[in-house]
Amino acid sequence: MPAVQSVLVVGAGLAGTAAAILLAEGGVSVDLVEAKPDLGALGSGITLQGNALRVLRQLGVWEEVREQGYAFDTLGLRAPDAAGTLLVELEDQHTGGPDLPCTLGMYRPALARIVADRAVAAGAKSRLGLTCSALDQDADGVDVTFADGSTQRYDLVIGADGIRSWTRQAIGIDTEPRTTGMGIWRVFAPRPESVTRTDLYYGGPSYIAGYCPTGEDSLYAYIVEDYQDRSMLSPEEGLTVMRVLAKAYHGPWDDIRESLTDASRVNYTKFESHVVPAPWNRGRVTLIGDAAHSCPPTLAQGAAQALEDASVLSELLLTREHLDDVWGPYTERRFTRASTVVEGSLQLGKWLLQRERGDVPGLMASISHMLTAPA
Ligand SMILES: Cc1cc2nc3c(=O)[nH]c(=O)nc-3n(C[C@H](O)[C@H](O)[C@H](O)COP(=O)(O)OP(=O)(O)OC[C@H]3O[C@@H](n4cnc5c(N)ncnc54)[C@H](O)[C@@H]3O)c2cc1C
Repeated sequence: MPAVQSVLVVGAGLAGTAAAILLAEGGVSVDLVEAKPDLGALGSGITLQGNALRVLRQLGVWEEVREQGYAFDTLGLRAPDAAGTLLVELEDQHTGGPDLPCTLGMYRPALARIVADRAVAAGAKSRLGLTCSALDQDADGVDVTFADGSTQRYDLVIGADGIRSWTRQAIGIDTEPRTTGMGIWRVFAPRPESVTRTDLYYGGPSYIAGYCPTGEDSLYAYIVEDYQDRSMLSPEEGLTVMRVLAKAYHGPWDDIRESLTDASRVNYTKFESHVVPAPWNRGRVTLIGDAAHSCPPTLAQGAAQALEDASVLSELLLTREHLDDVWGPYTERRFTRASTVVEGSLQLGKWLLQRERGDVPGLMASISHMLTAPA
């Protein structure tokens, strides 16, 4: 018998939806609440590494993801010179195993829709546009009050509510994300034929310029700069800034830059990071995904780590009879792995900020090697 019969998952991002699918499939009664009224709103792309794809396959959505995304097995490093010279083509590691691609790019809202539909099919009861207002736990359960005034008692609450987690605060954890000093411009745009995988350009006037195909007809492209408050810019001004920054990058970037015309698809975000010290639970309330740890996307591992948290936690909840037997192995299997990814992601950024010539391929390879073993 599973350690829990009823679970509330707070937050329907990848972490929360994955946990909801796996627990509902395992026979647990799952409620999933999400603050946003619509999961399919406009968004950018996401880079999913093999270890993320391994969990998506476990969720039963791999075929759909493969059909809608764009898979590739190499990573290009290019120079910020007049030709966008290809410096090296790195064979990526199959972190999800040999039968899954190394990397797949995807349109975020499409991925959100696929996993949300799967959660409903698995039997999770999902409520959009709803948050919690109070958690009150005793030895046997958690009484949850929702923002609409309704109440419900659960065996367990999973806080999967992202980097600014309400759940984290509600259980008295005061760890907060810190800015790393960098900000990223991202745009969702048409894919020119010249883009068939991710290429990264390190250096030039910005720290990193890169792109990732997300489907036959689409890609997302990004430029990383010193973080600055860009909130006063209109979407059109944001588009202009991105086009100007992109002028320093050539090769496939020349094609991409020309296609940057839709201001509504440009977005600016600062890089942030945190790791909640172990354990990630307080009694019958636990954290997964960005609620527990976040990293700048320099290794494109945030979503993968969120999915791995959900997979490991669900497996433990379904195979241990007592909740007390879950937390030790959950920490053992997740804390060091996720922390290593966070530290590696930060290190890549630090080298750039301090203008140091670090061993970027070496760091990427060692993290990929660690991630190849299932979580
Ligand atoms: C600029 C940028 C680029 C990135 N690119 C990549 C990438 O290419 N590849 C990658 O692997 N990772 C990437 N990441 C990281 C990745 O997006 C996150 O690690 C991942 O989305 C975390 O998933 P999550 O489910 O834990 O949190 P989220 O995706 O943040 O989901 C949390 C959900 O909880 C909801 N919520 C919040 N508060 C409440 C509440 N009180 N009640 C109910 N619901 C609530 C939110 O609306 C949201 O839907 C990137 C991050 C950034 C900032």
